[in-house]
Amino acid sequence: MPTGKLQIVPLGGLGEFGMNCMAIRFGDDIIVIDAGLMFPEAELLGVDIVVPDISYLLENREHVRGIILTHGHEDHIGAIPWVLSELNVPVFATEFTLAYVEDKLDEHGLLDDADLREIRAGQRFKLGPFTIHPIQVTHSLVDCVALAIHTPLGVLIHTGDFKVDPTPTDNRLFDLHAFAEYGKQGVLVLMQDSTNVERKGYTPSERAVRRKFDEVFAHTQRRLFISCFSSSIHRIKLATELAWQHGRKVCFMGRSMVNSAEIAEDLGYIEVPEGLVINPGEMRTLPPERVCVLISGTQGEPMSALSRAAVDNHKHAKIEKGDTVVLSSRIIPGNEKAIYRVIDHLFRREAHVIYDDGTTPPVHVSGHGSQEELRLIINLVRPKYFIPVHGEYRQLKLHAELAGAMKSSVGKVMLIESGDVLEIDEQGARKSGRITVGRVCMDSGSRTDVIEDLIVKDRRHLSEDGIVLPIIAINKHSGAIESAPEIVTRGFNVGDNGLMEGARQIVMDTLNQSSDEEKGDYGVIKEKIRADLKRYITKQTQKRPMIMPVILEI
Ligand SMILES: [Zn+2]
Ligand SMILES: [Zn+2]
Repeated sequence: MPTGKLQIVPLGGLGEFGMNCMAIRFGDDIIVIDAGLMFPEAELLGVDIVVPDISYLLENREHVRGIILTHGHEDHIGAIPWVLSELNVPVFATEFTLAYVEDKLDEHGLLDDADLREIRAGQRFKLGPFTIHPIQVTHSLVDCVALAIHTPLGVLIHTGDFKVDPTPTDNRLFDLHAFAEYGKQGVLVLMQDSTNVERKGYTPSERAVRRKFDEVFAHTQRRLFISCFSSSIHRIKLATELAWQHGRKVCFMGRSMVNSAEIAEDLGYIEVPEGLVINPGEMRTLPPERVCVLISGTQGEPMSALSRAAVDNHKHAKIEKGDTVVLSSRIIPGNEKAIYRVIDHLFRREAHVIYDDGTTPPVHVSGHGSQEELRLIINLVRPKYFIPVHGEYRQLKLHAELAGAMKSSVGKVMLIESGDVLEIDEQGARKSGRITVGRVCMDSGSRTDVIEDLIVKDRRHLSEDGIVLPIIAINKHSGAIESAPEIVTRGFNVGDNGLMEGARQIVMDTLNQSSDEEKGDYGVIKEKIRADLKRYITKQTQKRPMIMPVILEI
């Protein structure tokens, strides 16, 4: 009978959306699965990203053997720069995932010091007392793996994010055999993705989107804009293939889209025939029916390429009457307003807009397995203990109920949340305590610059650098600026070197250079003013006051 204590310690992602991070400990050895971020809610002004509190790992730093990544989505790799800057341990990931990580680390000047190790589905490796077997799974991204972790007490399986897609566009199949094989041998713990536990049936294959895309390509007369997540490699592959078939040139627009397409092409996930891709500048030299633009900004992010094109503020991407814009993504809860605002602007330009409105064939399919897929994996694996992961509490709870009803396949369901310590030994499994978890807010500019917590940040900002409120009066009906902008400051030492005069001029310039549509869209205009003023004030004073534009509707 093996002895020892196994601990499963979720640091994020269990009971919240995003920030997936899980520590597995046996004796004095810890491995970490994923280190993701969470996108902040709108009320966290000035915060760009949120990452998990890793105090537990820092307190045990000499025991941490490495971080293993399941795939390249931000909610799984987004905290890597911050984690490595605090704790430089080896990172294990598949080729494609590593390419995203390298990009990210490079951006933060951390690449040279990082110890990155490539893993492959089907190839086992050892880390401390653990032997880890990455298993190919299918998802909305490519090169994704589940992890079977052999421990002295038994095998743990962590599914990562998955759906069971029988026809993935890259033909890399979900390795159901590996799951079944483990099921035969006996599995101690199954940790499974809870995202789509509320959906009945099966999630459609990535290929389901092809029918809709075919239709769109066949019927579009003028320019075609397709917006999807830059990580939707299956979607980018499909769009470039169809563009080629339909005699359209492809233009990648938006930094993340360009980077991602480059990585996918380098690694052979998309094929780009000679002459297919054009620069944004070349667009105007081609007739509209010869152009297909893959553009970033599906979530209505105010500064994204699509948002800017929608208000006619993009140097190259002009959307005109009769153009078609496809939003091939889901609407992430919380982003509805921003997305519908962009769609509204597109309607105003008299573009055809195709978005996920529930009709079939779908313009977007989910990357996460629905109920029948979750049941399928549970039946194959037949774990002694089942732990729902990757979801808000509601989803974890429903997933626990779904598994709990499968009495012949599941020994016991353990419902745990971020911060719980689940201990397993020869006596069984139990919650044995809590560790510190939480959210760490990161400021813009550097993703390794922590804002200890928001209140601290606000107070520090206000006490050291003060606050600047540019006040702009806009006529609600005409969109005209009613008077010169006022600038009110508190706790910010203005001096009398003409700084405020300059700041007012910056605001005026920003307003003058913006279209009426942008001025009518307060989200966009506020963000533009904030960005321009911030640049100016930081340059003039080296200070970073909090800048909060206020629009008065008159
Ligand atoms: Zn994912
Ligand atoms: Zn995820």
